[in-house]
Amino acid sequence: MKQSKILIPTIKENPADADIKSHQLLLRAGFIRQNASGIYSYLPLAHKVLRKIEAIVREEMDLAGGVELLMPAMQAAELWQESGRWYSYGPELMRLKDRHSRDFALGATHEEVITSLVRDEIKTYKKLPITLYQIQTKFRDEKRPRFGILRGREFIMKDAYSFHSTQKSLDDIYEKMYQAYINIFSRCGLNFRAVIADSGAMGGKDTHEFMVLSEVGEDTIAYSDSSNYAANIEMAPVITKYEKTSEKIEELEKVKTENKKTIEEVSSFLHVSAEQCIKSLLFKVDDKYVLVLVRGDHEVNDIKLKNLFGAANAELASADETKEILGCTIGSLGPVGISNVDIVADNAIENITSAVCGANEEDYHYKNVNPIRDFQVSQYTDLRFIQEGDLSPDGNGTILFAKGIEVGHVFKLGTRYSEAMGATYLDENGRNQPMIMGCYGIGVSRTMASIVEQYHDENGIVWPVNIAPFDLHLIAVNMKDDDQSALAEELYSRLKEAGYDLLMDDRQERPGVKFADADLIGLPVRITVGKKASEGIVEVKVRKTGEVQEVYKEQLADTISNIL
Ligand code: ATP
Ligand code: MG
Ligand code: MG
Ligand code: MG
Repeated sequence: MKQSKILIPTIKENPADADIKSHQLLLRAGFIRQNASGIYSYLPLAHKVLRKIEAIVREEMDLAGGVELLMPAMQAAELWQESGRWYSYGPELMRLKDRHSRDFALGATHEEVITSLVRDEIKTYKKLPITLYQIQTKFRDEKRPRFGILRGREFIMKDAYSFHSTQKSLDDIYEKMYQAYINIFSRCGLNFRAVIADSGAMGGKDTHEFMVLSEVGEDTIAYSDSSNYAANIEMAPVITKYEKTSEKIEELEKVKTENKKTIEEVSSFLHVSAEQCIKSLLFKVDDKYVLVLVRGDHEVNDIKLKNLFGAANAELASADETKEILGCTIGSLGPVGISNVDIVADNAIENITSAVCGANEEDYHYKNVNPIRDFQVSQYTDLRFIQEGDLSPDGNGTILFAKGIEVGHVFKLGTRYSEAMGATYLDENGRNQPMIMGCYGIGVSRTMASIVEQYHDENGIVWPVNIAPFDLHLIAVNMKDDDQSALAEELYSRLKEAGYDLLMDDRQERPGVKFADADLIGLPVRITVGKKASEGIVEVKVRKTGEVQEVYKEQLADTISNIL
């Protein structure tokens, strides 16, 4: 590719609103341009990098038994209402209406679409398991889009979903996916950790995040200095020791509401059946009553909740008690796991229906609630969360903290979606059973930015060889010089024939500009055709090491193949 024919709008100065290296460099090197907050165009160089990352992802997904498809980005609201997430997802879900005033969502993720697809097309255990994946644009109206494409409102994700008739089958595929993720991020050259993204105290093995180690990461991970133990401290408040430092644990109080709603009223509002009855926990923090809605019907949620809110002292209301306290039952609202704990404060008790509406408003509801960070919990519990310097929970080594960028997430969903949406199959005995599901996401565009975070120096990006947009950067210092332009053209053809993907800087620019741009763009090898062109000598520079050598054009192919 000739540089005069491609769009690489480089910028000399650091853009004012870019705080981190990947954002600065991707803008400066002409890879991305902002369209609106959190929304970007990927220019030709970025497009090539994305295709390379996607190729790795596809290879590894296919190896792990995945089958690719492509689902709609624009999705009927009815599906999201069936799963309940139309009400629980909050303002992050982009919503729109068509000309007939029908509601739609722009896909933030595709559990609903895939579950309805599989529900309609697969009816028997004989067709299970199946793993389907896509690479597609996702939409999330992030509260704080920032760091360029690291946290966009429109971004590229690989999302895979598996469907099973047995837990064992899910465990097997989960393991395969986990390994595929290790392969993918290793092949991208990333320094990363797979971390437990669930309650480490519960030995949570049902969700892992893949974290690229980076100072700009928004997550904190706790890892052992001498074993593989690693956990996200946000999602895994790992309890290593029990210390009774707290003040007297407050009595949990059950309150009766005056303003009772019928089961039918609430369940019809939530679009869930009255039978999907959920447990709740009601207790007092300061002068406010806090209602914790436990979504899903899994035993483990109770245990996790107890751990979070003071272990044995917390009384979880049974389904009947909940009904007694609130005058109604509460339907399934969202995904399973610890992230399905919602805290609804203030007048929640007065009016459960408005509380559930309000649960999606700001300051009214906390998703992925984190005690300590989100509210004071110490005085109500006798738990202590993991800290740097602790003995690793696996007994091996000392805990250290690091910042991480979440590039991937694997999750055992269980029957959360299949039950809510009626995705069942006939088992060997002819009985209807809900499918068991897993989901597996990779932020493809975020991965590109993460690579830049780990691969740059003061002059620009330093792409790993197999991710770089081109293999080689061929620079003709002076295109007006006949010897130089002739040799550059000759090498361009020969290297292309030899199978290299190369970018040739044929612009009429000053050498300083060309070299600075080459460093900024960061292709692995630079070949400079300059004053010694008449002797058939060129300069080869390795971007990573800065190592420079002069070689005769006859030796060039060997020299390059030794480097790449
Ligand atoms: P985060 O914690 O960063 O908000 P998430 O947990 O909400 O991410 P998932 O729902 O697990 O994200 O989505 C799967 C993957 O999609 C993430 O692991 C991440 O790599 C990517 N991703 C999520 N949100 C964004 C975003 N706003 N911009 C770019 N990539 C994203
Ligand atoms: Mg998020
Ligand atoms: Mg996350
Ligand atoms: Mg995640």
